[in-house]
Amino acid sequence: MSKTFEKLKPYLDKAMAFQTARSLFEWDEQTLAPLEAAEYTSKIVGTLSDEYFKSLINDKVRKLLKKLQEEKELDELTDHEKAIIKELNKIYEQLESIPPKEYRAYNELTSISSRKWVKAKKDNCFDDFAPYLQKIVDYKKKFANYRAKGTKNPYDVLLGDFEEGFGIKELDILFEKVKQEIIPLLKKVSEKATTIDKSYNYLDYDLDKQKEFCRYLSGYVGFDFNRGVIAESAHPFTLSLHNHDVRITNHIYSNNLESAMFSIIHESGHAIYEMSVDDAITQTLVGGGTSMGMHESQSRFFENMIGRSEFFWEPIYEKLVATYPKQLKDISLIHFIKGINKAAPSLIRTEADELSYPLHIIIRYEIEKMIFSGEITVAELPKIWNQKTMEYLGITPPTDSAGVLQDTHWSWGEFGYFPSYAIGTAISAQIYSHMKEIMPFDQYLKEGNLTPIREYLKDSIHKYGSTKTSKEILYNMTGEEFNADYYVNYLKDKYEKLFHLNK
Ligand code: ZN
Repeated sequence: MSKTFEKLKPYLDKAMAFQTARSLFEWDEQTLAPLEAAEYTSKIVGTLSDEYFKSLINDKVRKLLKKLQEEKELDELTDHEKAIIKELNKIYEQLESIPPKEYRAYNELTSISSRKWVKAKKDNCFDDFAPYLQKIVDYKKKFANYRAKGTKNPYDVLLGDFEEGFGIKELDILFEKVKQEIIPLLKKVSEKATTIDKSYNYLDYDLDKQKEFCRYLSGYVGFDFNRGVIAESAHPFTLSLHNHDVRITNHIYSNNLESAMFSIIHESGHAIYEMSVDDAITQTLVGGGTSMGMHESQSRFFENMIGRSEFFWEPIYEKLVATYPKQLKDISLIHFIKGINKAAPSLIRTEADELSYPLHIIIRYEIEKMIFSGEITVAELPKIWNQKTMEYLGITPPTDSAGVLQDTHWSWGEFGYFPSYAIGTAISAQIYSHMKEIMPFDQYLKEGNLTPIREYLKDSIHKYGSTKTSKEILYNMTGEEFNADYYVNYLKDKYEKLFHLNK
């Protein structure tokens, strides 16, 4: 380790400690903390954020960082250290233009607002949440403008935080392609799929049995219970403290069998990514997944390419039927497979099938663009939301809870995040096509042997954390740049085969 880097390291370690503590409070708030804790606990979260900020953004670190950019110094750094310096530069770009006081106030705000969102969603009352959302939007605009320095669209700045190289220009192209190809396909499939009786999925399913089966599924796909835990929350999510402590949540409904099963496979995909990061870089600035898009590519790969495949269920479907004999005794495996892949426009993004899913993302993307261009106000959101849902999905949400209030992201200030779900799904299709070419993928699933699949993902993606960008990882893995055609072709191919669209 170079002398200069050695001097820098205590600052980085301290920042990581504050960051981890902050994450732990976040986890607690979403899972166990009592309802009224938020307002008081948010003060602690504010102090921790403040300390995190100060341990990274200060004159000493600034000087060391500057020195480390010199050629002589750079030569002495290992690749991991170089990646950390690159990341630190990015953090400086993100934070340095924001006055510390505003950064702290913003963190306190999002800590309260996420709890306000939970209540507003429960009470179906957008007006209760709107004042908080308005403040968040104001801060986000202000922060993005500090960073854009007049040369960039503020929304492009936010998009770049989640996925480098995917700005408004690239996303407009991707989504235009999706609209052209997927909307007509969804129409065809949903007409054909009306004959599939899925009423079995909405019978009464014992919550404890569901919990147990979900735990089984999670372990089956590779979640390591010695390094991770599962809890319950309003909205399933994954949170990593380091590669030996990765936490996921689930939400179980007594009248929907699929929901919790696919949520747990999805979150397990995120968790497996975080658990597989190399020991050498965990608890450093580059110790997490490389981008939100790449993260989503992994969760969706597990959820869709693996979890919704007939071969995946072949060895374990009997166990599912044995768990719920009354509800599933007359449902054949192929009936179940068609059921879990049934596509029809619906209201809730997290429950959406693979075909309507990208349309949910387009709705959010277009709305976010309008918010940040000043075209619409927060107060107008429910109205615009319902209009867009009608435009793309042909339905109107009966309540705001099933509409504009359904997602937690905005309550955390995560604007620009949603497109990474679509980017991730597109990446997962490209990875899937590649992996099917180089290994007996379906055979592994049939044998219930997911280890070679997981190992390959670990070696090509997970272990690198964020020492490489998602574009580099994808290129090194598949030998090709990002190509959205794989996504569209994957969906066409899958649904044409499953529902015999050409007959
Ligand atoms: Zn996810």
